[in-house]
Amino acid sequence: MKLRHGLYPRFLLLAAGVLVVVLAVVGVMLHRQATMQREVVALSQESIHALLFDRVRERGQAVARQLADSLVNPLYYFDLDAIGVLMRNVMQQSDVSYVIVYDNSGAVIHDGSDDIATYGQAMQDPLAYEVVTARDMHVQVTNKVLDVSAPIRIGGQRIGGVRIGYSLDSVIADENRATAAMRGRMEDIGYQHALWVLLMMLVLVAIGVVVSLVVQRSLVRPIRQLANAAREIEAGNFATEVPVTPRDDEVGDLTRAFSRMGDSIVRHDRDIRRMAYTDALTGLSNRLAFREHLDQQLMLVRGAARQMALLFADIDDFKRVNDTLGHDAGDEVLVQFSSRIREVIERHDDGHATLARFGGDEFVILLEFAEGSGADIRARASSLADALVAELGRPIMVRGRQVFLGTSIGITLFPDDASNAAMLMKNGDIAMYQAKVAGKNCHRFYSRAMDQAVERRVHMEQDLRGAWERGELSLVYQPVYRLSDNALTGAEALLRWQHPEHGPIAPSVFIDVAEQSGLIETIGPAVLRAACVDAMRWTREREGAEDLFVAVNVSPRQLRNGDLSEQVAQALADTGLSPSRLHIELTETAVIGDEIRASTLLGRLRSTGVKVWLDDFGTGFSGLSHLRRVPVDGVKIDRSFVADVLRDPDDLALTTAIIAMAHSLGITVVAEGVEKEGQYDILRERGCDLAQGYWLGYPMVMQDFMALLD
Ligand code: C2E
Ligand code: MG
Ligand code: MG
Repeated sequence: MKLRHGLYPRFLLLAAGVLVVVLAVVGVMLHRQATMQREVVALSQESIHALLFDRVRERGQAVARQLADSLVNPLYYFDLDAIGVLMRNVMQQSDVSYVIVYDNSGAVIHDGSDDIATYGQAMQDPLAYEVVTARDMHVQVTNKVLDVSAPIRIGGQRIGGVRIGYSLDSVIADENRATAAMRGRMEDIGYQHALWVLLMMLVLVAIGVVVSLVVQRSLVRPIRQLANAAREIEAGNFATEVPVTPRDDEVGDLTRAFSRMGDSIVRHDRDIRRMAYTDALTGLSNRLAFREHLDQQLMLVRGAARQMALLFADIDDFKRVNDTLGHDAGDEVLVQFSSRIREVIERHDDGHATLARFGGDEFVILLEFAEGSGADIRARASSLADALVAELGRPIMVRGRQVFLGTSIGITLFPDDASNAAMLMKNGDIAMYQAKVAGKNCHRFYSRAMDQAVERRVHMEQDLRGAWERGELSLVYQPVYRLSDNALTGAEALLRWQHPEHGPIAPSVFIDVAEQSGLIETIGPAVLRAACVDAMRWTREREGAEDLFVAVNVSPRQLRNGDLSEQVAQALADTGLSPSRLHIELTETAVIGDEIRASTLLGRLRSTGVKVWLDDFGTGFSGLSHLRRVPVDGVKIDRSFVADVLRDPDDLALTTAIIAMAHSLGITVVAEGVEKEGQYDILRERGCDLAQGYWLGYPMVMQDFMALLD
């Protein structure tokens, strides 16, 4: 394990180091002090010794001199008694060990005792030699005794001498006592000194402890707390408490700066999450967020038996908005749609709903109901879908223009339809597509049969390939009448597909497939030629049919490819049909968008002599003024307007406006989808030129149309 050098251990180590150094210094100081004390004691002892010794010697010399003077006469007359008296006087002093009077040869004359036992004996002790030979007063010292000798003279003549031995015992004892006292004092001082040092050391240690506590509290702890908080934030736990402090110092600054940094990281994280999880345009959750939410809910729901419904809403023909009004308008529509969806959900408020935009024009709603809420989820989802279809079907104002859009909704249920998110999303998509196939602007529940339908669509493209050659595709004709005199003026050619297995397939379905796959580029010219051939047959086989036109639907893709006019010219040349009898129907989408190019292409097309009609007019957003800019010969008012012409005054007004506008430009107006007599009447009254519809005649096969001509 790697040892960590934390701030606090480091500080403690430093403090310990300082303590050791201080201890060493104190140790050296104490040692020096002890040596000094020893020296002081030695010096003092020496001077005390010298002092005491000098005193004894001086006294000794004085006494010896005096005694020598006093002994002159007694010694001269050899009066031993008098000598003894004088000597004993001196010997009374306590520290005098001996007194000896001797003659010039060093023999003892008197030793102070009564019997003078040593009389006449030569002095034998180690000091005797110097005593005898000394001419003057002489002092000798051993460690026991101070020996003072003085000559006894008459005139200049030495007749003998006297020596006094002072015992040094008391001097040494005094000296020892003084030294001991001195040493004791010194030791006291040393002891006190050491006590002081100890006290100071204790104070130092206490200061160290206090400082370390302060450091721990004011520096190490807050830093450790910050480090912990930083670690938490690093681990993604943004809810962590960042310590708050009122401190007005660097640590306070650091803590506050850290706290602010934490806040800003949290804010950034939130922003990034928001960006990653929300759709920038509408502010709704995006696909990613929705998928996560769905996965989460599925996990929660797994145990508790709960029900969920997934609604996939797709705006019908939204591409047209982008193509015709531009992407900005498209964005506006999406924003308005999202807020409308939100409103509907809020109004509908039951269970819990989550709304997300999946990109493009797709919105997804997750409806959740708790088990036991008694909610029939199918009924609830259905009523929400109905409300959405109704609300989203209301016209939208974009750039001062009314835009009509529908919505197709697919619904799938959990746990009935699927148990995982991926399957649910796929089902929802399939159901939505089926709603489109069913005619758009409605909702469909997912069913297992739909899987087959989707598969069929995949197969459809393969099946459609070569269908014309195999004779599965055919044309039917819907008669078109002139309103003013009820006369048959022509027919619209409509494509039919009889699938060998699935029977008749709706054009709205297979034309879509043909357009998306590009097959329309081979089917289209074939249809054009076949229609021309059929029209030539009418003229050949029926009388009075030489003016009947045939209207052929052309896909935007055919126009954009650029060689439509050549195809048309070729078909006319090959069949011999008069150009004026061929009408080309183009949807608004085909001509809007790139108006200049469209105008060129249309101009070229019209130069072949054919007439060009705008199909499904009014469902796009070109507006009436658009008619001025694109060169067309006629407009076909979409059947959705015709359908409501009797009920809705707005539709009637619009239809009337289209007619008036078109006429002012010299353009023919055709109404499609006339299903009632009343519609027919009102259109005629408003001056509409031509009409077609079930009330006038269903699309019919060639033979039936020929029969009609009879
Ligand atoms: P469209 O060109 O607008 O054709 C008119 C559609 O309205 C036809 O549907 C017709 O059957 C239907 N219709 C006619 N009268 C009434 C009526 O009174 N009420 C109602 N509800 N509908 C009526 P259909 O045949 O299903 O064709 C659908 C669309 O398929 C056509 O719309 C056209 O855009 C496209 N289409 C058909 N044939 C061709 C073709 O040969 N080439 C291309 N490119 N598109 C075609
Ligand atoms: Mg048409
Ligand atoms: Mg139409």
